[in-house]
Amino acid sequence: MTSQRTRERLIQRIRDMGVRNPLVLEAMRNTPRHIFVDEALASRAYEDTALPIGHGQTISQPYTVARMTEALLAGGVLDTVLEIGTGSGYQCAILSQLARRVYSIERISALLEAARTRFRELGLRNIHLKHSDGGVGLPEYAPFDGILVTAAPEGIPPALLEQLKIGGRLVLPAKVRGGQVLLRITSTPQGYDQEQLETANFVPLVGGVL
Ligand code: SAM
Repeated sequence: MTSQRTRERLIQRIRDMGVRNPLVLEAMRNTPRHIFVDEALASRAYEDTALPIGHGQTISQPYTVARMTEALLAGGVLDTVLEIGTGSGYQCAILSQLARRVYSIERISALLEAARTRFRELGLRNIHLKHSDGGVGLPEYAPFDGILVTAAPEGIPPALLEQLKIGGRLVLPAKVRGGQVLLRITSTPQGYDQEQLETANFVPLVGGVL
């Protein structure tokens, strides 16, 4: 089920759905998604679907991971990136191949430690993890070239906007009229430019730590 052919079919699907950045497709191709889910779900790891990872959380759909990553990249590889919501660590592993350094925050310590073990197994050494409430970002390492939020906040957290470099991008799901949309906000010398990308369906960003 995790044959090269099965994995390649997923990359082709993501391409067909409109993700064309070769760096993103290559990072997706290089990342073994079955490592990031429970063994019982490994045979479904290369389906284009979100899967449960315990604690009421999910590993995001591969297309969504690819789309958000593409939206975050301005051109080439980034310097520093912050992810809010480490979860399984899959999105973080993709980012780690496209940025010099990735910081990732998770509120559930059991998920964070499982992700840490996976990064060690995969030899990913440019990831810095933090157990905390990501709504306040990571001011001690700001500003960032990119911030990617993988849980849906109520509104746009001002702390995250403040932690962007000029030219930096914040990609996040935002609640609108009972649904969610994926937003990309770019910090400019004049203020913030906002683009609506597509509909989204993320678990909520929750305050506090577990
Ligand atoms: N990026 C993840 C992956 O690739 O597996 C998907 C994560 S899941 C859709 C969202 C994650 O955000 C969950 O692990 C959840 O615990 C975490 N989360 C929710 N609210 C948070 C907060 N305030 N701070 C940090 N993490 C949070």
